Amino acid sequence: MQKKALAVGALAMILAFSPVASAVNNDAELNFNKTYEQLDKLAYSGDDLGAVYTKESTSFKVWAPTAERVKLKLYSTGSDKEDGAKLVAESDMDYDAASGVWSSTAKGNLAGTYYTYEVTADGKTRETNDVYAKAAGVNGERSMVCDLSLSNPDGWEKDSFKRVNKQTEAIVWEVHVKDFSASESSGVSEKNRGKYLAFTETGTTLNGEGKIKTCVDYLKDMGINYVQINPFYDYGSVDESGDDSQFNWGYDPINYNVPEGSYSSDPYDGNVRIKEAKEMIAALHRAGIGVIMDVVYNHVFDAEKSCFDKTVPGYYFRHDDSGNLSNGSGCGNDTASERAMYRKYMVDSVKYWAQEYHIDGFRFDLMGLHDTKTMNDIRSALDSLEDGKKIIMYGEAWNMSTSTDSELANQGNMYSLNTRIGAFNDGIRDAVKGSNFNATEGGFVQGVGSRVAVKNGTAAATMDWSPQPSQTVSYSSCHDNMTLYDKLVASVLGEDADYRARDEKLVDMNKMAAVSVLTAQGISFMLAGEEMARSKDGDHNSYKSSVEENQIDWNNLVKYSDLVKYYKGLIDIRKSYSPFMCDDMAAIDNMTFYKETGKLVYGFMYENPNNDKQWDKLVCIMNSDKESAEVKLEGENLPDDWVVILNRDSAGVDKISEFSGDVISVQPGESLIMVDKQSFEKSGIKAKETSIDSLDDAAGAENGKADEAPDDGDEQSSSGVLPYIMGGLGIAVVGAGIFYLVRRWLKNRD
Ligand code: CA
Repeated sequence: MQKKALAVGALAMILAFSPVASAVNNDAELNFNKTYEQLDKLAYSGDDLGAVYTKESTSFKVWAPTAERVKLKLYSTGSDKEDGAKLVAESDMDYDAASGVWSSTAKGNLAGTYYTYEVTADGKTRETNDVYAKAAGVNGERSMVCDLSLSNPDGWEKDSFKRVNKQTEAIVWEVHVKDFSASESSGVSEKNRGKYLAFTETGTTLNGEGKIKTCVDYLKDMGINYVQINPFYDYGSVDESGDDSQFNWGYDPINYNVPEGSYSSDPYDGNVRIKEAKEMIAALHRAGIGVIMDVVYNHVFDAEKSCFDKTVPGYYFRHDDSGNLSNGSGCGNDTASERAMYRKYMVDSVKYWAQEYHIDGFRFDLMGLHDTKTMNDIRSALDSLEDGKKIIMYGEAWNMSTSTDSELANQGNMYSLNTRIGAFNDGIRDAVKGSNFNATEGGFVQGVGSRVAVKNGTAAATMDWSPQPSQTVSYSSCHDNMTLYDKLVASVLGEDADYRARDEKLVDMNKMAAVSVLTAQGISFMLAGEEMARSKDGDHNSYKSSVEENQIDWNNLVKYSDLVKYYKGLIDIRKSYSPFMCDDMAAIDNMTFYKETGKLVYGFMYENPNNDKQWDKLVCIMNSDKESAEVKLEGENLPDDWVVILNRDSAGVDKISEFSGDVISVQPGESLIMVDKQSFEKSGIKAKETSIDSLDDAAGAENGKADEAPDDGDEQSSSGVLPYIMGGLGIAVVGAGIFYLVRRWLKNRD
């Protein structure tokens, strides 16, 4: 009896969403809130929702307190289009009014059996996949009972990634499963291209020619320690029964706890995608690389057709005063993280991926739509797991309008979040290379921005909205908007220029952008291929563009071998100097920001507060001006002698040249990093040689241009006048040297 009263009561209130009911707006709103409060009081705290499998029986539980009737349906296949498709059984489920849960137990070994719920609620009877599904058939339409122990690849019990101690030690490479290997240039076998299993291939080389490493072998040598993978839960925009020419980023969830089927070798068998996703993760772990999963709990593919709405109509989504779906996400619907059962769902789901799939971090899409309590609850839940405190969390903390009174996890509320929940720093992103939203606008590296904005970025927005570096993600490009190189093309050469052509001044700008981001406080982050001038031909929103547009062209490893080497060198520098990776304010407190510089000359010095046998003082100067700059080193107890480890051409932890004095000349478009000579010699820090270090040679040979390529001796010398004369005897170079001398002479006269 109690059940019926509640169900009807809730139903009446949910009907208040209809336009007719909203005519009496105040009453509707009152009812509407009451409904959610009532339903929240019925929240179920058990951990057995969904299909809980044993060899002897499977228990099915679904929370649906507004339903009048729920039927369990069992099928032989994931869709009716498959051979042998049939409805195996159906039965009414039992309702427990105290918990709002409908349940049923089926005897026997049901592994591999597909199932749905037929829910009668809100005056409609609709069939739905399970909100808590762990496995699904093609296109996620039917859920599947799964014996997860059979989905584990060999050695899975021993799989572990030594997660970094502080999330600011992460250097993240953001990649899409398909982008990674769809191109033939990836050297991945044809059958695995664009699939989970591409990540499991070792020994892959450029175009399969056996010379230049690609894919996971390449990443290992690059030195990044995490990949962030664009959504690989089951999403709706790609037809899994269709062909591989389809492409979508996948920000349109269907089943949150099931891997996407189109990346698997068989989307029909619910076991295969699970096993292959785990194989991908295990392979990355073997390479020493952690996996950050891009999760999109803020909206679904289609609210009305979603399992959430079919199971408890209205409850899981935010609505405005007129009863329309709230649309802060821009995707047609916003989920309601503040409601008890969606909050629980997010917590359960994240925990599930961490435990079952060994995920090492989570990137929350449009985190600014979630409430701060839910985000903190997720943090606590992860912290309670083994090694869980090291699981990375960050998200898009944009300030967005959505229909809720809850405190939202946006940049303005970072102080309410755990210090191990970070946010993307759009400040440094735009300061470095210009606004994301205006293709032709430049930033600091193009010589039109300001050093002040870069400074705020380097300090991890702690002068702005971020409480400390662990709460900031520093980046200049991600999957959204133009790639870094495309942005440089559009802003310098114009939107109609050839995005795939190499241009030396843009390569220099790209290098300076990398210096800005990889010397910044916070988590380091880059779009996959940023380090090889990846292009999407200026496409700033390629979410459903062609595979060809989106895929990484690994041939760029040859075309931009110098840039790749530069990134690798910068990563080496970052990893060798603990102040870059400090998670609290200690490093920033020990920084000197140079004030006596021009608008387009930015410099700072770190003093290492840690007793870690690394370099003591580190100076970084970037000059994006058209004129060379004489920079006076600032700070107390300055040493006389310095060792240059990064200049325009070369980056790494090895000595390029030495410098003595307290005024250094930095050429137009050049970055410099130097460390004090005494600690440099004492530390004995040496680069770990990898294939990237010889990429120039390999690339030169590949190009048939080995003879033309300058050797390293020449490359290391661009910061002085003498080496110019020694290195390049071409008229242009000598001319530049004379010009420089004259400029310097003129300057000194002042
Ligand atoms: Ca799918």
